[in-house]
Amino acid sequence: MVEKEFELHDVVQMKKPHPCGENRWKIIRMGMDIRIKCMGCDHSVMIPRKDFAKKMKKVLEKASN
Ligand SMILES: [Zn+2]
Repeated sequence: MVEKEFELHDVVQMKKPHPCGENRWKIIRMGMDIRIKCMGCDHSVMIPRKDFAKKMKKVLEKASN
């Protein structure tokens, strides 16, 4: 299985969409925990890195492009 790669400011899709209906999240902080912000309603959540890797579905937009 390929390890998921992600970096600060990437836009990602999670396995579960936010209750507001949006499923695009921007990574706004990286560390032991990862903070992502819903691009629909600007709500942000903090997720431990290993949980994030499990809950993230895919990267939609790379910050470096
Ligand atoms: Zn939202």
